[in-house]
Amino acid sequence: MGLLIYLNGKLVQEEEAKISIFDHGLLYGDGVFEGIRSYNGRIFKMDEHLIRFYNSAKAIMLEVPLNFYDLKNAIIQTVRANKLRDSYIRVVVTRGVGDLGLDPNKCKVPTLFIIASSIQLYQDSLYEKGLDIVTVGTRRNLTESVNPAIKSLNYLNNIMAKIEANNAGVAEGLMLNEQGYISECTGENIFAINKGVLRTPPISAGVLGGITRDTVMKIGASMDLVVKEENMTRYDIYTAEECFLTGTAAEIAPIVSLDKRMIGNGKPGKITEKIRKKFWTLTQEEGVSVYE
Ligand code: PMP
Repeated sequence: MGLLIYLNGKLVQEEEAKISIFDHGLLYGDGVFEGIRSYNGRIFKMDEHLIRFYNSAKAIMLEVPLNFYDLKNAIIQTVRANKLRDSYIRVVVTRGVGDLGLDPNKCKVPTLFIIASSIQLYQDSLYEKGLDIVTVGTRRNLTESVNPAIKSLNYLNNIMAKIEANNAGVAEGLMLNEQGYISECTGENIFAINKGVLRTPPISAGVLGGITRDTVMKIGASMDLVVKEENMTRYDIYTAEECFLTGTAAEIAPIVSLDKRMIGNGKPGKITEKIRKKFWTLTQEEGVSVYE
């Protein structure tokens, strides 16, 4: 039997979970989404993800058809209905059904769906060996166009970058912003460690305010690292002692080279490994319980 999907207020079988071809989420990428994980029956950083979800919707003037409390419950019900303990949860709201024009005013009812399933972005061996990545030519969107801080359904910018990484035969691509500063990878934030400083680009550099990014900054501070959000260039990564990316799906993945420049000794860094362990412990201890 397939998954049970939450679609516009009801749990339906995967095969029945269908939306109109006139939905503007499909026609124009007009909508926003979240990717959340549950670990061991608890949904990790749920409020943080939902706050970002409502903020994304607000930025594109789309009203989420459920309030915070009801959405939270709908997510819990969906995970529970699928009897999942470790899961990846996708929450999507689109502008809904309209005509073939762009006008969002013609879309009267947003579409809301929740998928609770699983995900694995990279093979286990990549976490052990570390990722080789390259800088891609596709620049991250301007903050004054579709701001990368909005987790919108419009991921073509990232997909173009991912295609470049695929073509280069590596697991990830590093995207720069229009000024040439580092922004993020195709679906993850990036960090570098050098001389006790944990550094990541600021949101203004055209990055999504990652929930894992926030968690890692807090872990870093608790380990007496100096945590800085500042503009970075590729040089800062080439010359770093350690580097890693973060994301809900990817979790924390060490990066061992950028553009064929070996980072540190070319192996996952020791501090990165400590951060990974602490992150893992948090995922096992915290979160909103699905089954109690
Ligand atoms: N940047 C982008 C472009 C993303 O899509 C994501 C989420 N997949 C991230 C960063 C990481 O954010 P989070 O840690 O909240 O998953």
